[in-house]
Amino acid sequence: MNLGLAGRRAAVAAASSGLGFATAQALIAEGVKVAICGRDRDRLSLAAKRLGSEATPILADVGTPEGATAFVREAQDALGGVDILVTNAGGPPPGGFAGTPLDAYQSAIDLNLMSTVAMCKAAVPAMQERGWGRVVAITSITVRQPIPTLILSNTARAGATGFLKTLAMEVAGDGVTVNSLLPGFHATERLRTLRGGDWDKVANEIPAGKVGDPGDFGAFVAFLCSEQAGYVTGSAIPVDGGEYRGML
Ligand code: NAD
Repeated sequence: MNLGLAGRRAAVAAASSGLGFATAQALIAEGVKVAICGRDRDRLSLAAKRLGSEATPILADVGTPEGATAFVREAQDALGGVDILVTNAGGPPPGGFAGTPLDAYQSAIDLNLMSTVAMCKAAVPAMQERGWGRVVAITSITVRQPIPTLILSNTARAGATGFLKTLAMEVAGDGVTVNSLLPGFHATERLRTLRGGDWDKVANEIPAGKVGDPGDFGAFVAFLCSEQAGYVTGSAIPVDGGEYRGML
């Protein structure tokens, strides 16, 4: 299927590796010019090299609203505009209520909520003016089904989801769609950090019987950015091999 994305310009945050990198790869395969960001210069340039000449590396830390805004501004300058925004960041540290100090909440909120708000603030108004835009936020299955050991993620991403839903309604009439994808368990460094290397054990907990492939996840993001997906907005869609157990 031709997704109609050739020539579009995308900013994909936190894309040195993992789901962000796979998303950048999938968009480039559809003919999109992509700006990626990361915090480590060497890892970032290695990622850009792997992605090829359609990738523009931008050194930025989206863990602060200022860093997140700066990434989008630099992407707009480098690409001549941004039609597609993929918000993403690392995940906050694990922990439950008793072991998580108060100040950790603000850092998590900056990383997983305020970064999303800041990137949308920087990118969406120009999309509205042009009458076309796509925002895809990478959040987590914790939005639907909180994980007991991830209180920071559960808390911050709930706020991001409320923000995205409200934004979707406000800009839908301007040709801009806003959706989020909720990863379950995918084969990345994040999963390795949280669950160790025994992915067979993780796979046994998932109805699909396997850990998710980041490449498949990236392809799904590309589809949500397509012309064909233009009537899908305000959705928060699990990509989780059936891990979410609720009916709706
Ligand atoms: P990852 O940790 O494997 O990769 C994240 C990438 O972002 C790395 O390249 C890292 O260097 C970069 N990064 C981290 N913090 C950054 C920052 N402040 N500024 C710029 N770059 C930054 O994570 P992932 O598995 O690719 O997941 C992406 C997001 O999805 C994370 O928020 C994660 O918590 C969430 N998530 C992942 C899974 C999963 O199974 N992989 C499941 C649920 C949610």
